[in-house]
Amino acid sequence: MPFETITKHPERFPVAPNLADYEAARADFDWDAARAALSGLPGGQGLNIAYEAVDRHVAAGRGDRRAIRHIDRHGGITDLSFSDLARESARFANVLGGLGIERGERVFALSGRVPALYAAALGTLKAGAVFCPLFSAFGPEPIAARLEIGSGRVLVTSRILYRRKVADLCARLPALDYVLLTDGGPEDEGDGVLALPRLMADVSDSFTIAPTAPEDMALLHFTSGTTGKPKGAIHVHQAVVMHAMTGRMALDLHDGDVFWCTADPGWVTGTSYGIISPLVNGVGMIVDEAEFDADRWYGILQDQRVTVWYTAPTAIRMLMEVGADVAKGYDLSSLRFLASVGEPLNPEAVVWGAETFGIPFHDNWWQTETGGIMIANYAAMPVKPGSMGRPLPGIAAGIVERTEDGGAREIAEPDTEGELALRVGWPSMFRGYLHEEARYRKTFAGDWYLTGDLAKRDADGYFWFVGRADDVIKAAGHLIGPFEVESVLMEHPAVAEAAVIGKPDDVAGNVIKAFVALKQGYEPGEPLLKELMAHARKRLGPAVAPREIAFRANLPKTRSGKIMRRLLRARELGLPEGDLSTLESDER
Ligand code: ATP
Ligand code: MG
Repeated sequence: MPFETITKHPERFPVAPNLADYEAARADFDWDAARAALSGLPGGQGLNIAYEAVDRHVAAGRGDRRAIRHIDRHGGITDLSFSDLARESARFANVLGGLGIERGERVFALSGRVPALYAAALGTLKAGAVFCPLFSAFGPEPIAARLEIGSGRVLVTSRILYRRKVADLCARLPALDYVLLTDGGPEDEGDGVLALPRLMADVSDSFTIAPTAPEDMALLHFTSGTTGKPKGAIHVHQAVVMHAMTGRMALDLHDGDVFWCTADPGWVTGTSYGIISPLVNGVGMIVDEAEFDADRWYGILQDQRVTVWYTAPTAIRMLMEVGADVAKGYDLSSLRFLASVGEPLNPEAVVWGAETFGIPFHDNWWQTETGGIMIANYAAMPVKPGSMGRPLPGIAAGIVERTEDGGAREIAEPDTEGELALRVGWPSMFRGYLHEEARYRKTFAGDWYLTGDLAKRDADGYFWFVGRADDVIKAAGHLIGPFEVESVLMEHPAVAEAAVIGKPDDVAGNVIKAFVALKQGYEPGEPLLKELMAHARKRLGPAVAPREIAFRANLPKTRSGKIMRRLLRARELGLPEGDLSTLESDER
């Protein structure tokens, strides 16, 4: 049953949704008009993400607005206005200039969510250099590998991260000339290992932004490594066109909103939507330095009067596990719009969200490669639980099958599985995998970009995720998407998380094996196993239901929170485990 957010909760929509008439917006859409919503650099000198995100607002007299409310681990609050952010990022750009960093050179960050990270990201873009964020929990090897691929010249990090993870790597990284330490006193820690606060204090807080062109490289983002070795996706300054319009259309950002994106800037969501998109739209955001904690998160939603919240299925599943009763202790009535990305959002989670918050989660779909949201559930459109929604205006998505000559044919028939593909040409499309030209080219067939995800489109034009092409299981003549099976297991009250894989079988080709992590208070054992098997068989039929179910304390995930089915499969079948650089929790 679809959820109608606005008709059910008009009181939560004192403002009309930005995308009130989807069909009309699609029909009238024009990229030049979308570009015209941005101002471009003063004097017609090009386009720069940081100018659009920060300085443009200062120039328009909005400098006093709050841009960032930072909450430190202990709950201490620091507010930064757009003017503050303009000055801090200018200082950082001047620091880079003083060190001789040239346009196009790579500035990496390995940092917790502290204010200096945001100044560094925006300052790097102002200087025309390329910002490349790393997740701060990475170990030394993944850090070194990425710095090497990206020829990082500068790394912004904290003293503790430097000492623990980076100091020993420097000899291996000849391109890395400077490490800038965000915290502590004025002392440097060695040759080229410099105290950033001191450098920032010594330079001017005004800076003339580099005249970057729309096609100049701006961001280098490594993918999550869910399916294999992470790729370095290149993005250009005009990606900001997409950041701006998706913030308005898919996240429904309005003036005066309090926005919270819980993703870390070490991943593309945390940069595109945890820095750029809200700022470009002039919307203030919450940055929480701490990690997930149900009470802390509900407390932030309540105390900061968050209106638009963008989070991920893993976090939602953790909140579900803690239970809806915990949420009842908080006043969450400020929330107007909830969105989720990163993994399939099980229908169960959408229903739970609607019961717990009074409004459903709006799932949306995109990838590191797409640079911004491509398919979404919109405020003014009914949410079908389990569906990713419909393509953004300006985005043509299709279900295709690859042809033998290397092309792709669109499948017009609704409800038919195929590969999700996008017609090339949107502004935030990646421009390459750094140093992997062949891998990049392989993702295109004619004017389609092939996403590697399988999906279906229904007769209403909604897209439904089936599974990653690598994870889809061929069993007894059926193609089985893991998402469908996992969602059914998730319906059972004992199940916190589920992942399914295919196991080779002489008769069926493959049989399905499910790995299940239980909620607190449930015991693994024969009775529960039988119950789960029966539930799955009843809901899915014997051909699709798992043949085996194994209990695990937790499932292996990437550090961005995605379940790594390939690792479960490799371990089950005794195959090589492959690249584990982004593995976070281990099942064993
Ligand atoms: P790698 O490409 O290195 O294997 P990754 O694909 O997980 O890693 P990301 O670019 O961070 O790296 O993730 C994009 C992928 O996440 C999508 O291709 C899709 O498989 C999954 N995803 C994102 N949003 C959704 C969603 N709403 N529903 C289902 N899957 C989603
Ligand atoms: Mg991918």
